[in-house]
Amino acid sequence: MPRGASVLDTEVRPTPKIRLKVVAQMTSTVREQAASARQERDSRMVVADFDQAPFTIAWELTRACAYACQHCRADAQPRRDPRELDTTEAMSLIEQLAAFGNRPILVLTGGDPLMRRDLFDLARYADELGLRVSLTPTATALATEQRMRQARAAGIRRVAFSVDAADPLTHDSFRGFSGSFARTRAAIAAATEAELSIQINTTVCATNVSELPVMAEQLEQWGAVQWSVFFLVPVGRGANLPLLSPTQHEEVLGWLSDLSQRVPFDIKATAAPQYRRILHQRTGRTMGAGFHYSDGLDRPVRGVNDGRGFMFISHLGEVMPSGFLTLPAGNVRDSSPVDIYRQSTIFTSLRDPGALKGKCGRCEFREVCGGSRARAYALTGDPLESDPSCPYEPAAAPV
Ligand code: SF4
Repeated sequence: MPRGASVLDTEVRPTPKIRLKVVAQMTSTVREQAASARQERDSRMVVADFDQAPFTIAWELTRACAYACQHCRADAQPRRDPRELDTTEAMSLIEQLAAFGNRPILVLTGGDPLMRRDLFDLARYADELGLRVSLTPTATALATEQRMRQARAAGIRRVAFSVDAADPLTHDSFRGFSGSFARTRAAIAAATEAELSIQINTTVCATNVSELPVMAEQLEQWGAVQWSVFFLVPVGRGANLPLLSPTQHEEVLGWLSDLSQRVPFDIKATAAPQYRRILHQRTGRTMGAGFHYSDGLDRPVRGVNDGRGFMFISHLGEVMPSGFLTLPAGNVRDSSPVDIYRQSTIFTSLRDPGALKGKCGRCEFREVCGGSRARAYALTGDPLESDPSCPYEPAAAPV
């Protein structure tokens, strides 16, 4: 790349926003019902109390996976761990998660969740108990159209596939599996045929950041409803990959903010809560308007962060603030996940902006941003320290 050039030097052509594809086809009665349901969701999101319940729960059903991705948080292994939660324990866990009472989004993840034979039984039970279920399968030969149809029938609303480059060879190199890009395209097509909505997850680091503009065009062609851009946290195998510099973080987040105004899919920045600070600086908004999807996996008005609106459960039942902040606060085998989320010191301190240290602690954006607690922990050993990826210098005392 020439000196001084942007890491993102390709423009993406503007397109109109198309958020809810199905609404135009609804009858007036259905429209009224949808409006009423949306109003209910709105009020639930506005009053969302992250001290009481997470908005999203990611559950690592297994660490087994056929891939060996360079950035794998889970350091996934080829075989299932015999210590995984078994089906009976998993069903019990679902009941306990339903007790949060706010119908959280339950992301069934891994490893590759398709490696568990009871996957669709678990998904169906979670759906029956009111959880809003999504799935992040690995794009292997297991991700067939038949299984995608089984997923849909089990109540799974959305599937998220990982794509880390526009170029197939670069993507395959990231995933450690030749032919992965082609398999991912096939899996996306299979899920689309099964009428599942599609989310694309991309882990961005210094190696693949220049791929993002072309990827944005691809996502549009694939009909994705959301692009979830994960800013690398150096944990698991990802500890060996090069991070973006703070300046590059800022540049990419600004680019995503601009992109979000002209593409037909939603953009979510993961492990980069500075996105909300940048949105505020560019648009004057400190809070989002929420985000409604026809699949019901709406976005909250308030920003979610590690342990604040988000909870992770490992394949062994450990409860952590996120999959990138691997500090166990308890285990569902001997404690209630509801109690762990609401009462453990780890979770409560992460939800307290006044506990933040350094620059994040005195930043006027600490309520809407707060920095990536996972990256702070990975790079400093203290989950309450400043996020080293943020170049922002606080202008005033926190409000
Ligand atoms: S200093 Fe911390 S709280 Fe402020 S914008 Fe940066 S990461 Fe966010």
